[in-house]
Amino acid sequence: MTDENKKVRVRFAPSPTGRLHVGGARTAIYNWAFARAMGGDFILRIEDTDPERSTEENVQVILNAMKWLGLDWDEGPEVGGGAGPYFQTQRMDTYAEALERLRKRGSVYPCFCTKEELDAKRAKAEAEEGGYAGYDRTCRDLDPAEAVARIEAGEPHVWRLRVPEGRGAIEFDDAVYGHVSFPAEVMDDMIVVRTDGSPTYNFAVVCDDANMGVTHVIRGDDHLSNTPRQILIYEALGFDVPTFAHLSMILGPDGKKLSKRHGAASVEEFFERGYLPDAMVNFLALLGWSLDGETTLIDRETLCREFSLERVTKKDAVFDETKLDWMNGQYIKDMGANAWVQASTPWLFRAHAGVAADGELTCEARDAAAADLSARPDFYLGLYPLVAERLVRLDEIPAKLAFMFWGPEVRELDEKSVAKVLKKEGARADEALAACRTVLADEDRAWKAAPLEEACRALSEKLDMKLKLVLQPLRVAVCGNMVSPPLFESIELLERADVLARIDHVTKEVFGG
Ligand code: GLU
Repeated sequence: MTDENKKVRVRFAPSPTGRLHVGGARTAIYNWAFARAMGGDFILRIEDTDPERSTEENVQVILNAMKWLGLDWDEGPEVGGGAGPYFQTQRMDTYAEALERLRKRGSVYPCFCTKEELDAKRAKAEAEEGGYAGYDRTCRDLDPAEAVARIEAGEPHVWRLRVPEGRGAIEFDDAVYGHVSFPAEVMDDMIVVRTDGSPTYNFAVVCDDANMGVTHVIRGDDHLSNTPRQILIYEALGFDVPTFAHLSMILGPDGKKLSKRHGAASVEEFFERGYLPDAMVNFLALLGWSLDGETTLIDRETLCREFSLERVTKKDAVFDETKLDWMNGQYIKDMGANAWVQASTPWLFRAHAGVAADGELTCEARDAAAADLSARPDFYLGLYPLVAERLVRLDEIPAKLAFMFWGPEVRELDEKSVAKVLKKEGARADEALAACRTVLADEDRAWKAAPLEEACRALSEKLDMKLKLVLQPLRVAVCGNMVSPPLFESIELLERADVLARIDHVTKEVFGG
């Protein structure tokens, strides 16, 4: 086990074979928070040894996702560090050195059995009673001189770990699972280096973790069955075995392993759907860890101060999107206007261009929106209080706020609202709208929400109409819809001339007047 006084060093080791998914993101968060809480180092290592499935693009996507989540790493790609390089493909010499070390210690042997021979043996064993019990160790006791001669003659071979004779069960104390024991049957003389000289996954991981001084391996429990094999490799190399902490699965609400079927699965998609990184980190941190069993809103500082492996549960966690939505709404409510405008830029630009949340923005539209944002920052900041209380996700912004960018036109007049409000039998909507227009046109009144609202409300008595029948037509005329953010706060942010023009436009279109 590790020396208690050693500086904590942990790593997140994604394989760039796809995007960063929810499970991986949680693993990254736990490693990061644990490093911060323990005053240790957080290493990012890219496990790109699978040449067919690893891509440069995926590396970038993963790094971007980590940055978006705000998980800064102390060592790794882009930042470097004393234990680099941090891409496995650049560490081949270290695996060769480790193999050499194992050879010197007599802990590995070359195996010349061909795939065909191994397959035949396996098939035969599987047909017999008892089944296949692993490699039959044919090459384990080859005469060393013969083995060297065959290698020198260029005969293809792999290197296998010589599991010590009589090695019993492999046991370790997992920081999450507790005491774990694997029976002796898993102690196959596993391959550590393949015919082409490449390290197997288990070998590369152990070499890297040992060479990088990793003290705690925190990873998904899909790796639990690799752990006994890795422990054997540590022992063979004569290195300290780190502490392991395996994280339970994340399930969808249907109890099945979380996947694409359950909606968004990659960090990128959560960004695209308008979730905030702070909310994501908070939410994912609670999928298996708790501060005190009840607190749900936990900021980064608290997480980085309080995180501990003791409070990680081995129970499977359930991904509850309703809770995530609620949490995101809470973060939006608390983030303040400046941060909101910054985080919402992609959606504010779409609202400006009249494009849907998932629609493409042309370069011209983006440039025009950017110019508008820098020309009138206060307008944008002013949009925040209109929606801060109700927004669940930022991608609702285009639908909710497009009307604020229409200028004098009503670009989308909701038919249902027209029928239910403006054309409602006996509702006198035309009269109400005309009266509101007069109020709004009065230049003596301050263009502020409160006095405008007060004056329009007073019309209810004057016209002897229900308040709702006075105000709803105005809402539809200005916002194009009977559902909108607070009406007078919205009006205050718009230009008087634009508001009047919208009323005129709708009056003409609906009442022909
Ligand atoms: N590269 C492995 C994966 O992406 C992780 C290995 C580990 O954490 O030990 O699943």
